[in-house]
Amino acid sequence: MNVEKIAMQRCSELLVLAKQMWKKDSVLSKRYVQLARKIAMRHRLKLRRRTFCKKCNAIFIFGENVTSRTSKKENAVLWKCNCGNVLKFPIKRK
Ligand SMILES: [Zn+2]
Repeated sequence: MNVEKIAMQRCSELLVLAKQMWKKDSVLSKRYVQLARKIAMRHRLKLRRRTFCKKCNAIFIFGENVTSRTSKKENAVLWKCNCGNVLKFPIKRK
């Protein structure tokens, strides 16, 4: 049996659940993200970036808990979580 495949499936299921649960119960939603991260860590899987906050484990939902803006000075897109954590994504130049 392919353990990594099952783990990956569990992670994505948990992230989907976290997204659905956010409006009803944000604490439970954060717990789901935490579990997904733990599974990913255990099996050394890569979870997609930009899906949750590393600091408070909140799943990102636009218009709910995250705002994005571009910074010309830093040449990056900044995502600000409700907890105050800011993520920087540099803009690639061609
Ligand atoms: Zn956060």
